Amino acid sequence: MSDIIQLLPDHVANQIAAGEVVQRPASVVKELLENAIDAGATNITLLLKDAGKTLIQVIDDGKGMSATDARMCFERHATSKIKKAEDLFNLCTKGFRGEALASIAAIAHVELKTKQESEELGTSIKIEGSKIVSQDFISTSKGTSIAVKNLFYNIPARRNFLKSDTVETRHSIDEFQRVALAHPTISFLMHHNNNEVYHLKGGNLRKRIVAVFGSKMNEKLVPISEHTDILTIEGFVAKPEFSKRKRGEQFFFVNDRFIKSSYLNHAVVNAFDGLLEYGAHPSYFLYLTVPASSIDINIHPTKTEIKFDNEKALYAMLRATVKHSLGQYNVAPVLDFNRDSNLDTSYHLNKNAVNGSVPKITVDPDFNPFREAKQKEINFPYKREQSTQSWESLYTSTAFSDEGSQSDLFEHQQESKTQKTFQIQRKYVMSLIKSGVVLIHQSLAHQRILYEEFLESITVKEANSQQLLFPVKISFSSQEIEMIYTIKTELENAGFSFDEFTKDSVTIKGIPVSVIESKITIILEALLNDMNLEVPDASFSHFDVMAKSFAKTLCIKTGTQLSEKERESLVNNLFSCKEPSISPFGKATFKTLTLNEIDNLFNS
Ligand code: ADP
Ligand code: MG
Repeated sequence: MSDIIQLLPDHVANQIAAGEVVQRPASVVKELLENAIDAGATNITLLLKDAGKTLIQVIDDGKGMSATDARMCFERHATSKIKKAEDLFNLCTKGFRGEALASIAAIAHVELKTKQESEELGTSIKIEGSKIVSQDFISTSKGTSIAVKNLFYNIPARRNFLKSDTVETRHSIDEFQRVALAHPTISFLMHHNNNEVYHLKGGNLRKRIVAVFGSKMNEKLVPISEHTDILTIEGFVAKPEFSKRKRGEQFFFVNDRFIKSSYLNHAVVNAFDGLLEYGAHPSYFLYLTVPASSIDINIHPTKTEIKFDNEKALYAMLRATVKHSLGQYNVAPVLDFNRDSNLDTSYHLNKNAVNGSVPKITVDPDFNPFREAKQKEINFPYKREQSTQSWESLYTSTAFSDEGSQSDLFEHQQESKTQKTFQIQRKYVMSLIKSGVVLIHQSLAHQRILYEEFLESITVKEANSQQLLFPVKISFSSQEIEMIYTIKTELENAGFSFDEFTKDSVTIKGIPVSVIESKITIILEALLNDMNLEVPDASFSHFDVMAKSFAKTLCIKTGTQLSEKERESLVNNLFSCKEPSISPFGKATFKTLTLNEIDNLFNS
């Protein structure tokens, strides 16, 4: 048989390698930004057009390249950063593979302009699909500009695989943020379609974090600092009461490189022990410095995972340091997300009334029956002895005046119309029905109710808005502001009204009737988070995401005690829904247990 093996031509090999290095525009963003950092730049500009699909350009004022290097840099395995294998174990640059530019040039139209400080003239090179199209001397300033156009122009399958502009931009912003956070002293500028997204001046770390995530971040940060022989830890964690329901602002940098580590994340979460609400994620920005020889960053092609020599020691130190700082800054116990303010929201109660501590028996203008109901646990008749007075006042209050006398309630409890719901473990509501009982999951049921209410008010009814007495100004990052702006109309349909948009804040003057003022930030944050996770297409309306997000944020949570009135309205509202049996996220909201089924429990 004749020989059949041959070496692939360079441009084919480069295209194959590109598959590993360049998944999407954001991968190019990362590589170009890192090259600029490695070149010692102090000012870096990132320009994107159409989420990077049309243009990704990075301009730096770093050391530039000679004419020969400018040509060389597009060769595979061409790097100035390591020379021998041992260098791999002592890396202090971002790049070292010498693969990025070769890969990018294989799958895009690339224009490079570069000049070293000592040179009179610089070099301009155009390269398309690994082929040099032109090379000229040009006059340009010190540093390098690389423009990557029409990414994947010669790999339609990859181009088609790209997500919507929103999603791709989000990925690029993530990469930009990571690099910007890793290098607070460097100035960064980012534009998308000629709009400024970030303008970050060089400064200290706190300033950088605040510049990236908005001014409200400032008050949340607890500083962390620890220096030992094997490890330096610097940075910040956010106070537990600002923890997020979704993972988001969690950043580890090791030797100025962003990394992901579920192991170290665990150490931090562990340090928050007891301070975090179940399911909440702490925000953190932690900068670890370890000897370059003690890590191996070579285990992942896109280099966000890392291997440490002494993982266990790092874990222990990280945990102890974070714990110590939380203690030192006297961080108050966590706010309870499940606090019954949810009830205030959904049942239109006056929020101040719930917080009162002394139960009032006599005529009290602020009297609120639900407060009494919760404090006295009125669910079962044998509580009567202890709470007669409250009960009396409860039933003389107008809210209940049409419900018959209290003696009816106690003496004919089973038959009476009023006492036919019970709460189980502050999680389920049990209601008697003709054929047996129905068990309702209070939180999921309330999600369904709120979801339908929001959907209706957003899409069908006139906006159901309440004007705020004093407009509220909320800080967001510029990127969040951009997102809010794109869904402004939908938010207005939902009942929000806006006064002023600035680069990092929005002033809100009206909110949906079912939302209370103190929840505005939480629900908007949750909404932005949910929208980020969604993969929208052009025809997609945000209504459904919005209604789901609001429902999820505002629903009564497990652990909330419900008064009888609240239980009843939950049951009634649920069964007036169009689709009462499933939550907006597809879970069952209730189950029935027929008498037959109950009988069978005893017959088996
Ligand atoms: P690596 O970064 O792994 O070395 P790249 O393909 O990203 O590989 O870059 C190849 C080489 O081109 C780098 O080693 C560096 O010498 C040079 N280079 C790339 N970008 C720049 C830049 N912005 N300024 C100066 N030199 C650069
Ligand atoms: Mg590189």
